[in-house]
Amino acid sequence: MEDWEIQPWLFALKPYEGESLSHFLGRFRRENDLTPSGLGKEAGIGGVVARWEKFRFNPPPSPVELEKLAKVVQVDTEGLRAMLPPTGVGMKMTPIRLCGACYREVPCHRMEWQYKTSDRCERHSLRLLSECPNCGARFPIPASWQDGWCTRCFTTFGEMVEGQKSL
Ligand SMILES: [Zn+2]
Ligand SMILES: [Zn+2]
Repeated sequence: MEDWEIQPWLFALKPYEGESLSHFLGRFRRENDLTPSGLGKEAGIGGVVARWEKFRFNPPPSPVELEKLAKVVQVDTEGLRAMLPPTGVGMKMTPIRLCGACYREVPCHRMEWQYKTSDRCERHSLRLLSECPNCGARFPIPASWQDGWCTRCFTTFGEMVEGQKSL
């Protein structure tokens, strides 16, 4: 590491494979006790963090914003870009979707679940969930997926695979 500008007082986290930016930023903020605006301030990018955590990428994050954020979260800009939708892919902000089988393997929200056209998990041949199959509650934004369970009925995201329909 030759980047002298990294902020040694902030705890770094490694992104999971396929993790959405919202989920990653939430994990990073909790680890470092930062609010969305606190992280924006730390990175010098203003109020965009809360928007990005809601998958509001219009206008898309600029290269300068990503560079500034990269220094604070200590993930390079390529790594940050991998947590964003590819150019030209439309995003669905609500409902937040989930594959319980994927979550059981790696506990994170995947970026591709929020693509406009996503309704299934090809890996597990299952329909994605857009609400808790036990109580019908919608999923909160992934930035606040702290415990990995439904906040109303406490069914874990991994257990929700039981309520997913096969393709
Ligand atoms: Zn899956
Ligand atoms: Zn529930």
